[in-house]
Amino acid sequence: MKKYFRLHPYVKVIDGIKECALYNLFKGEVFSISKDEYRMLNDCENSIPLDEIENIDYKFISDLKDNGLGLDYETKMFVNKNIYGLPQVVNDVFKRVFLNKLFIEITNECNFNCEFCKNDNILFRKTGCKKWPSYNEKLSIEEWSEIISEAKNLGCKNFVIMGGEPFLKFKKLKEIVSLIIHFNNNDDIKIIVFTNGFLLDDEKILNYIKHNNITLCIQILADNDLTYEKISGNACVFSKVVFPTDKLKKTAVKYDLVILVSKFNENQIENIFKKFKDSNKKLEFIYPIKNKFYSEKYINLIYNRTKNFIKPSLPSFDRFSKYNNCYKNSIAISCDGLMYPCIMSRKLYLGNIRKVKLCEALIKSEDLGYSALCKDKIEGCKLCHKRYGCFDCRALEMSATNNLLGMEFCNLLHE
Ligand code: SF4
Ligand code: SF4
Repeated sequence: MKKYFRLHPYVKVIDGIKECALYNLFKGEVFSISKDEYRMLNDCENSIPLDEIENIDYKFISDLKDNGLGLDYETKMFVNKNIYGLPQVVNDVFKRVFLNKLFIEITNECNFNCEFCKNDNILFRKTGCKKWPSYNEKLSIEEWSEIISEAKNLGCKNFVIMGGEPFLKFKKLKEIVSLIIHFNNNDDIKIIVFTNGFLLDDEKILNYIKHNNITLCIQILADNDLTYEKISGNACVFSKVVFPTDKLKKTAVKYDLVILVSKFNENQIENIFKKFKDSNKKLEFIYPIKNKFYSEKYINLIYNRTKNFIKPSLPSFDRFSKYNNCYKNSIAISCDGLMYPCIMSRKLYLGNIRKVKLCEALIKSEDLGYSALCKDKIEGCKLCHKRYGCFDCRALEMSATNNLLGMEFCNLLHE
């Protein structure tokens, strides 16, 4: 009797130029497999009986069954591969303009004067704050009110407030947060504020954050006052930043730490991790693009894309296989009203909010192909077995190579 093997609906077999992979979208696991194993599984998925598959490896098939990835069948079996959301053809017919995330650059001013942060358009890090130049009058609160109202109508639930230093403009921040809450009836929204943490020791600000359920993303630059001063030009910063994070830990306020690795603090990173051992934290880097501030010590990690590999699931697989990991359904607005698909992609201009609507910017982002810029459309990635879970940064690639499809910061296929 013939025997057939089929992977479960939630298991995807992915090809690659060096290695291939199996994604278990139910458990969020990824297994590397060889080219031969890929070919074998492809035959299985095409309902070829096991004994007709060239060089079949029964041990490999048996291991897959033991790991809950597939089953034997006695007849050809149709396995309905799980799909998430509407099929592409239906999506194309009922195209709906939807905004998932709005980035609000509330100010380009800052109370720090970081060595690596100039008032220019050169990008070599992605930590959520920079003193970008502005060209027009800053948006008024009335203009932000119209924008947030339109964002609500487009279904937006995620608002990210950035700077400069947002808490430097506390009055404006409060007004914008009130507008977000007002237009959404406090319903199911998420507000994130990026900050350098310096003003968080102000009890008023801390209480406000608590009261309005704001999530903080705090940039950490060093493990002592001296290095902080060298980087930011401000005295006693570390003590001021640590104090509120100690306090935040004891409250229900959600916060994440972004530790920015630079040549100034490269020997302090382990200590920073120890110091903040109970907090959510991730490393970010100064990238080696036209600057002398990046860390030589961490250069391998900078070029290691797999550090940003996310656990695959049905929704994430759907997103990564069709869309760009950042640009889809997102709009960033600078403090003077210019729109981009992300706050750092300043070369991908989508219009001035004083002249065009948010929905027009979203449509432009679709039409120009930014939203749909998935890894299958990037020459250097389309043969990588990690491509449906890899979170890359097109803004940094563009800054390094002057090409939106650039491949400077990945060494996976060149190792
Ligand atoms: S805290 Fe951020 S915005 Fe402020 S100077 Fe430093 S890098 Fe620039
Ligand atoms: S950047 Fe591209 S080549 Fe590198 S790991 Fe991600 S998908 Fe693979």
